[in-house]
Amino acid sequence: MLFFHSKLRANGYDDKFIKTCWKDVKEMQNTRSTKTRYIKLPYLGRRTEYLRKSLFNTDIGITLVGGNNVKNILPSLYTKKDSRDRAGVIYQIPCECNKIYTGETGRKFRIRENEHRMAILRDDTRTSTLADHCYTHSHWPNFDKSKIVGTGSTTFLD
Ligand SMILES: [Zn+2]
Repeated sequence: MLFFHSKLRANGYDDKFIKTCWKDVKEMQNTRSTKTRYIKLPYLGRRTEYLRKSLFNTDIGITLVGGNNVKNILPSLYTKKDSRDRAGVIYQIPCECNKIYTGETGRKFRIRENEHRMAILRDDTRTSTLADHCYTHSHWPNFDKSKIVGTGSTTFLD
């Protein structure tokens, strides 16, 4: 799941969409075919992915060429290392309902944030209060607006 998620996320797909696809993938796993042929296609956003999905049970895969490459789609991934690599921080992740989840981690914010994301995708309400909120209210956090707001105690681990 992590691999699947990170690959799609790196290609500009949003989390809700990935979660929906992943459910389909799990349901179809038994019938998955090995790809023996690949089609070269320009990247056309979700249409490309729907096409890929529709080819799921075939031996045909899709290779993306030309058009908008990943760098054009998601330039932010390739710019400076941002503060998300800071460890030992207090951070805030706003929800779509405008409530703001505040947490603290001794590890890198990027790692903890991704744990929240994965917990929400898995409906894992044990490891993340944020996931519990999202599960209960069917909300989705605005991860694009998450930020570090302070320096935490270095001994504090989540
Ligand atoms: Zn909410």
